[in-house]
Amino acid sequence: MIGFQYARAGTIADAVRQMAASPGAKFVAGGTNLVDLMKMDVERPAKLIDVSRLPLDTVEETADGGLRIGALVRNTDLAYHPLIERRYPMLASALLAGASQQLRNMASVGGNLLQRTRCAYFYDLATPCNKREPGTGCSAIAGLNRMNAILGTSESCIAVHPSDMCVALAVLEATIRVTSPRGERVIALSDFHRLPGDTPQRDTNVAADELVTSVELPVQGFATSYNYLKIRDRLSYAFALVSVAVGLELEGGTVKQARFALGGVAHKPWRSTEAEAALHGRTPNEASFAQAADLALRGAKGFGHNSFKIDLARRAIVRALSQAARGAPQSQSNKKIA
Ligand code: SF4
Repeated sequence: MIGFQYARAGTIADAVRQMAASPGAKFVAGGTNLVDLMKMDVERPAKLIDVSRLPLDTVEETADGGLRIGALVRNTDLAYHPLIERRYPMLASALLAGASQQLRNMASVGGNLLQRTRCAYFYDLATPCNKREPGTGCSAIAGLNRMNAILGTSESCIAVHPSDMCVALAVLEATIRVTSPRGERVIALSDFHRLPGDTPQRDTNVAADELVTSVELPVQGFATSYNYLKIRDRLSYAFALVSVAVGLELEGGTVKQARFALGGVAHKPWRSTEAEAALHGRTPNEASFAQAADLALRGAKGFGHNSFKIDLARRAIVRALSQAARGAPQSQSNKKIA
């Protein structure tokens, strides 16, 4: 780890002001990803601006009936918040599927959004990695890529976004509020993370001087028919091979509205509006779910070690939609898949 300056921000305006005056600085809150990256010399910020004591740690109802979640709400506090448990249980489930209890106690909502890929080569300074050092190449494409992406990949990078929370936020169509010297702006979750293209070093569309201040959830929480199914190598403290978040609205024995997103398969939570639309008006059964899964996975491409993910994702989508339709979502305390 290299030497760096440290300063604590007293207010949001102070945090933004300090960042504008400190090129090469980074905001830090829980530090559960950034500090690891610094220890391994992957990230080398000249200065850390500690935002962990800013007043961004509340969950509030908004005037339009949704919820505003402060960027500093801890993952554990959010998962067990009564309004999240009651109105957005898919989000609670995704949060509880992520990391370990200790990490969830430290990790913030803003940090979860901004966490970086766990591609092993990204952390290994001895190997080429376009995300870490643009222009050096991608070691994963012809290397050990079991955990890497099958959708939205590029010749520059096949990394996946590691978050569980963000997959649920994609289904909920959350929006993210950020602030900078240029003022505030709101980014749809679908536009927050980027595909790698030829600039894999950029994970998100957030500028270096922008501070994430809150996440807003619309009214629709899919509290009756929802699911978060996470398939991984071991039952806790492991990143997803494939995960699926589902929100269904059922009426008269048919699907009135369907949303689902995949984690562990792309550089961002992966949604296919075409696949979702194909479920509208259909009977919620294995045949209609399998058809939707095929549409969602159209264009999926394996790279050898991770090719199994295509079939795994297909089966996970069918399983996750079936559990949601039955009103029997995957338990995160008993993780055995039903
Ligand atoms: Fe780096 Fe992306 Fe390739 Fe992994 S997949 S080695 S993060 S460029």
